Amino acid sequence: MAKPPKIVGEHKKEFRVIPPPPQDMIVHPVDVSKGTFELYLTKTSKDKILEHCNAFADQKLEVMGFLIGDVLRWKNRFFSLVKDVVSTDLKATNISVRFAKEGFEPLFEELDGLNYDYLIVGWYHSHPGLGCFMSKKDIETQKRTFNKPYHMALVVDPLKTEMKAYKLKDEGYVEKKFAVYLETG
Ligand SMILES: [Zn+2]
Repeated sequence: MAKPPKIVGEHKKEFRVIPPPPQDMIVHPVDVSKGTFELYLTKTSKDKILEHCNAFADQKLEVMGFLIGDVLRWKNRFFSLVKDVVSTDLKATNISVRFAKEGFEPLFEELDGLNYDYLIVGWYHSHPGLGCFMSKKDIETQKRTFNKPYHMALVVDPLKTEMKAYKLKDEGYVEKKFAVYLETG
């Protein structure tokens, strides 16, 4: 069994102070005029998520993975940047998905191979054909595994081409606006 991945955030006391991506780098939503977002995805990571979800959409199988990036602070607000996503072998049906036991080792290796300090800022999973929402089980997963204030759940319906971001709120959840941006350099 591989050693568990480093999870830098557990030890971080302070989030770095960095401005969010500038408006001219944002490719979604089109109208960013009233835009402050709690979640920013690089275009590359968004495309990777869609590719993963689309690959199993015809078979109506759910997929899932981690959102990898950082949490930053700017003018008294916090936001997450997703720079990459990782996934592994899955056990999936059309209404459920989890990591296969044999998938953990390659997943940990992939996480350890990332050459920057990262946080797991949330997870994504797909609902092929069912639309975007958080099921009771999704909320339980969120409460159990992704219960930091910055943790997001990104749900994708590749058949209806919907992608929505959620956070826990009280006993339920709320939708959060997110932006997709082009990386520089
Ligand atoms: Zn779900």
